[in-house]
Amino acid sequence: MALFVQKYGGTSVGSAERIKNVARRVAKYYAAGHELIVVVSAMSGETNRLIALAKEIQANPDPRELDVMVSTGEQVTIALLAMALKEINIKAKSYTGSQVRILTDSAHTKARILKIDEERIRADLKAGNVVVVAGFQGIDEANNITTLGRGGSDTTGVALAAALKADECQIYTDVDGIYTTDPRIVPEARRLKTITFEEMLEMASLGSKVLQIRSVEFAGKYKVKLRVLSSFEEEGEGTLITFEEDKNNMEQAVISGIAFNRDEAKITILGVPDHPGIAYQILGPVADANIDVDMIIQNVGHDGTTDFSFTVNRGEFANTMNILKNKILPHIGARDIIGGDKIAKVSVVGVGMRSHAGIASKMFRVLAEEGINIQMITTSEIKISVVVDEKYMELAVRVLHKAFDLDQEL
Ligand code: ASP
Ligand code: MG
Repeated sequence: MALFVQKYGGTSVGSAERIKNVARRVAKYYAAGHELIVVVSAMSGETNRLIALAKEIQANPDPRELDVMVSTGEQVTIALLAMALKEINIKAKSYTGSQVRILTDSAHTKARILKIDEERIRADLKAGNVVVVAGFQGIDEANNITTLGRGGSDTTGVALAAALKADECQIYTDVDGIYTTDPRIVPEARRLKTITFEEMLEMASLGSKVLQIRSVEFAGKYKVKLRVLSSFEEEGEGTLITFEEDKNNMEQAVISGIAFNRDEAKITILGVPDHPGIAYQILGPVADANIDVDMIIQNVGHDGTTDFSFTVNRGEFANTMNILKNKILPHIGARDIIGGDKIAKVSVVGVGMRSHAGIASKMFRVLAEEGINIQMITTSEIKISVVVDEKYMELAVRVLHKAFDLDQEL
């Protein structure tokens, strides 16, 4: 007998029929003698609908009140799922985040979980109940309802699995696992049987949005066994997210996937005086405006000046250019500032890079053979990223996927 936390996303509980399906799947595990905690999201589209409604009243909705409101989406689905379970004669109890007492900090709309009261859940499980918990929400020290940020139900699932030391946290979603890349771009993309936490973080932060990044960090920190599966298929083992030391070396490909992100913009400041403090003078005001900087490149200086480039989220491009033009350029005496948002980032990701040389050169050769110009490069221990013209992004993903044999079954 095992303890499973199962989390079902918005599409998996998107209608009464689908909720009944979830109940049937839960029933199968229950019948096999397992203990189950089921975390659900709001029905698909519901959170967006609630946020839009709030914005009809307040352009910038008050964060505390917004949390009170959007947390209701999940309150509906927990009750419906508990009813569906009772309907097929399974004892079930639903709880909101505050009823469980999922204690968070007070950062409304992006709160962090601090502590989970497990007593009530344990008692219910012991009495033979399936415990259904609302994802995405908690309560702060002063009993204010909080939410965990978009996609936060994943984090609720993982946090419950960590707190109750579950044998596995299963995330049921509308895809059947993590793929080598987006199958909409490369139809030959394969489902990975396993991926390490570090690879998953790189893939997720690069735009493969299957799991909320924070849930993966959480699982890595607390060593939660995490699996992504499809809620629309009866069978299937999905993708297991593993720790590097557990990964079977025989089975390990050097590269696990190709990630990409169209959501970037590039800015270059030309003729920056090359002296200490300049990077701080440029990026300090950008950070103060809460703008995340991704890649940063500074050229070798000559004649006392240098060029300084970095990328930001595309939505922050105009704002960043304004800050630079008005607050920075006049002070540092740089020659000019140029930028563009028609770029994309493409990355190869794999822990095998640690022990294999030549991955970067292979990547650059493959891109060169297609005539794709590389505008920027960054690397980490398990990732090489390049910035290319947006119009070559899909081609780059396709040729790299093939060159690294990701279409081949291991
Ligand atoms: N319902 C929330 C959202 O749409 C949380 C979740 O689905 O994970 O972001
Ligand atoms: Mg989600």
